Amino acid sequence: MIRAISCSTVMQCARAIALIVLVGGCDAPRVTRPDFAYDPTVLTARKLYHWTSGTTIRVWAVLDVNDAIDLGVATRTALSVWNAVPQFAEYSLVMASSIDSADVVIYDRASAAPVTPGSCAFDPRGAAGYTYFCPGSGIPTRAEHLTLSNVRASSIVVVMRVDRGQATSQSAYNALVAHEFGHALGIGGHSDSTADVMYGAPTKATPTTRDIATLRYVLGQVPAFTL
Ligand SMILES: [Zn+2]
Repeated sequence: MIRAISCSTVMQCARAIALIVLVGGCDAPRVTRPDFAYDPTVLTARKLYHWTSGTTIRVWAVLDVNDAIDLGVATRTALSVWNAVPQFAEYSLVMASSIDSADVVIYDRASAAPVTPGSCAFDPRGAAGYTYFCPGSGIPTRAEHLTLSNVRASSIVVVMRVDRGQATSQSAYNALVAHEFGHALGIGGHSDSTADVMYGAPTKATPTTRDIATLRYVLGQVPAFTL
């Protein structure tokens, strides 16, 4: 039903309309982006990066060994906790159906590397976790697609290597994997707060308000690199 607004004078009508607009304005949800809690560019020479807004990020986990500390469990945990962070559907992490359709690959140090390094140096050394992408040689603001180890082309742009040998439990491994996903989503820095997932030696797998604020800040910026 449409109800007519009756006004005795033009001025009253103008006031009524202005009031409706004002009330409407007050009722509209206001979502603002937070400031970062820690610098998200310390590890990337002050360069911000993130995925194209709205991307469905397909993740392939290389499951090669039946270990009590399971990469599949840790990966699914990371997808769940980080998928709760976007305010404007900037990304959605899903498990890929195959490595051929993946954008991100994660593997344990116990497995063979699933991709070739690309045009820049992949150098994890003895790190418990290492996340890597390579600025494209053709388009320097886009991360390059990496080639699978069997020489097939792929859509993979981010590689994560983790080392269960440096995790004492499944929960410690979950924290390590969640931390690397924080890097893969755009946090190119570390927190100095031990409770944060992005602390340099993480023990928690669930992003804190500080982790969430930092990634939400990143997602609102124009990146130097698009994944
Ligand atoms: Zn890190």
